[in-house]
Amino acid sequence: MKIAIYPGSFDPPTLGHLDIITRAAGIFDELIVACMLNKRKQTLFSSAERVEMLKLITNAIPNVKVDSSDELLADYAKKHGAAVIVKGLRAMSDFEMEFQMALLNRKMNPNLDTLFLTAGEKFHYLSSGAVKEIGALGGDISDFISPAILKKVEDVLCPV
Ligand code: ADP
Repeated sequence: MKIAIYPGSFDPPTLGHLDIITRAAGIFDELIVACMLNKRKQTLFSSAERVEMLKLITNAIPNVKVDSSDELLADYAKKHGAAVIVKGLRAMSDFEMEFQMALLNRKMNPNLDTLFLTAGEKFHYLSSGAVKEIGALGGDISDFISPAILKKVEDVLCPV
């Protein structure tokens, strides 16, 4: 069974993330979406909220499992029998950092490969950070966030 991991902060999960999840789930037998809890990285949404939102947007995809972790990704992958990390690549600006991380992860766990999927053409410009900026100023984020979690995200970004 081919298991892959899609790690990220998902603060909040966007339609760009969901596009990568849907496509990766079509390639692997099982896809673990791992919400990474990096204590040095401040997030707007709690880990429980991010996991809950990921579950809501992926519940129609049977081979997707949502989890969270504060471990080193290379160790987490080994523990879960995953040989592949999936990453979404937007523009060249993602590349340098992702290239470095892929090589470091492979150095730490030689059985671990990173597979890059190009962002869907409608989502190249989309990031969780941009959604937070737009939403906090009362802008319309419905083109960027799944309807299953739109209200929750709006309520946190722009409480009335
Ligand atoms: P961000 O980079 O927006 O803060 P994450 O850290 O949660 O988001 O990203 C997790 C993974 O999803 C990374 O591999 C990132 O490149 C990818 N990703 C983020 N936004 C998109 C998007 N709009 N389209 C495709 N991949 C994306």
